[in-house]
Amino acid sequence: MTKYYLLTPGPTQIPPEVALKEALPIIHHRTNEFATIYRNVVEGLRNVFLTKNEVYILAASGTGAMETAVVNLLSPGDKLIVASCGNFGNRWIKIAQGYGLKVISICVEWGKVVKPAEIEEALKNNPDVKAVYTTFTETSTGVTNDIRTIGEIVSKTDAVLVVDAISGLVSQEFRTDEWKVDLTISGSQKGFMLAPGLAFITLSDKAWKLVETSKLPKFYFDIKKYKKSYVTNETPFTPPVTLVVALEESIKLINKRGLENIWNDCKLLAKAARAGMTALGLKLFGEVSCEVVTSASVPTDIGGKIVKILREKYGVSIAGGQGHLKGKIIRFAHMGYVGKADLLVGFACLEMVLVELGMKIEKGKAVAAAEEVLLKTK
Ligand SMILES: *Cc1c(COP(=O)(O)O)cnc(C)c1O
Repeated sequence: MTKYYLLTPGPTQIPPEVALKEALPIIHHRTNEFATIYRNVVEGLRNVFLTKNEVYILAASGTGAMETAVVNLLSPGDKLIVASCGNFGNRWIKIAQGYGLKVISICVEWGKVVKPAEIEEALKNNPDVKAVYTTFTETSTGVTNDIRTIGEIVSKTDAVLVVDAISGLVSQEFRTDEWKVDLTISGSQKGFMLAPGLAFITLSDKAWKLVETSKLPKFYFDIKKYKKSYVTNETPFTPPVTLVVALEESIKLINKRGLENIWNDCKLLAKAARAGMTALGLKLFGEVSCEVVTSASVPTDIGGKIVKILREKYGVSIAGGQGHLKGKIIRFAHMGYVGKADLLVGFACLEMVLVELGMKIEKGKAVAAAEEVLLKTK
């Protein structure tokens, strides 16, 4: 039996306290017992999203919340801007096109970050744009977009700002209200350290105004239904009860550690991971690195093999590139329950795989570089 080390940017490792909750006998969801848990959970979510607004829970993966953010704000023929810098940014375009909307896409080369000035320009040229959709941490390339600056720009217009914070929330500083984000979404299987299956969404008053006029077809993801049930501490349809119960535990763990401490821990792990990659002679990929996943370019002749061998031989799971970056980059995640020791294990095994694949590297160098960073901070 292999012991696995999950170092992928979703799903992420689940702490035993949370996993045990997932294993408890199921309770009914129209009970006081569930209502109490639900209330604790949504209040906890509001503190993580850093919003005064309500946060709703959907039974879906993160993409379900993305679709919810499109069908509840817009109407047939509406114009929107998508600022994309990778695979997940492009998903906004695909969803919007699926609903026949007019998409103005501002795409930058993968690895670069979205340029706020280009969004400003597009908004100026298209005053009829209803919403701007973008990504906080673009997990497919490992970069962070400057949401605070984009929020300043969009808030001065009639458009609303929608942000996919699926991978970045919890782990990296993100402030929904302060940064003037009108609609933020996230999911359970990244920083929340839970199994996949829950998605979260919160809307500002400005976004709710659009909801009132939205005419795109919807039923299961009709956000008004969720708002109505919120009052009675319920979800409109059967929630994944086990996941909600486990989420209560995960929020407890997040509160115990403290959001800012988690941000700092991830920042430190990211710094150590960058040092590790650089020590291996691998070029960091991405203009502005995010703190949840570190990506680096790898020689294309071995790029396709690294992830597979690492997992099959050592039980260490990292991710490769997506789309045209397949076989060209590796992505090493360090969010949620991943600690310093996991990081060192991951790099030690990565070194062995690279040696095995014929790369001329000095054994122990990445681990030493990561240790150096980790030792400097207690
Ligand atoms: C993981 C991820 C998604 C996709 O979420 P699913 O849960 O797979 O639907 C979307 N956006 C970002 C930035 C992600 O990291």
